Amino acid sequence: MDHAATPLADLPLDELIVCPQCDATYRLRRPKHGERATCSRCHTALITPRRNAGLQIIAVALAVLVLILGATVFPFLRIDAAGTSNAVSILDAALAFGGPMILLSLATAALIVFIPLLRVMLTLYVLIPVVLDRPPARHAIPAFRLSEGLRPWSMAEVFAIGCAVALVKVADLADVEFGPAFYMFGALVVLVIAQDRFLCKWSVWQSLEHPKKS
Ligand SMILES: [Zn+2]
Repeated sequence: MDHAATPLADLPLDELIVCPQCDATYRLRRPKHGERATCSRCHTALITPRRNAGLQIIAVALAVLVLILGATVFPFLRIDAAGTSNAVSILDAALAFGGPMILLSLATAALIVFIPLLRVMLTLYVLIPVVLDRPPARHAIPAFRLSEGLRPWSMAEVFAIGCAVALVKVADLADVEFGPAFYMFGALVVLVIAQDRFLCKWSVWQSLEHPKKS
């Protein structure tokens, strides 16, 4: 990205790109495959087109989908204390409260399970036609906008860190054994971060706004 001789204010909007992190504005120059455009002020990646990135993201999204479902139903923890043992899944834990606490339960379940799930499904819905060189899916633009808007509300990784902290405390009182869902959650956190890094939002918006005619 370079500052051009023409004042930026005179350029049409689609020839400009603004750094989402620090608001620096640049004249758009499309990087070739393998190149990336970064903000020269704060080094945020602006455009990172990669060959086959779409396919990789779809593969990761499918893995995330399976892991979310698995991590929700399989036992997360087994606790042995005073001779009794108890295995709980995320869904058991989230739905354990009754009465007014049920709202809290539902909110927890939404943040750690349903919103990540919804984001994955929106990503697949938007990207599959793009990767297959088809015209964008119906309402792909609002779907992608919603998926990006939900990003801060997708809290699987916050939940995982919270669990880790709580477990350190509980480990003194009882024997704690991790179930399969714990490891699925671990993998999930890594994959969700990888997915967000692979995804070049600029490229997705380009293909949604200027679809190839077929
Ligand atoms: Zn910047």
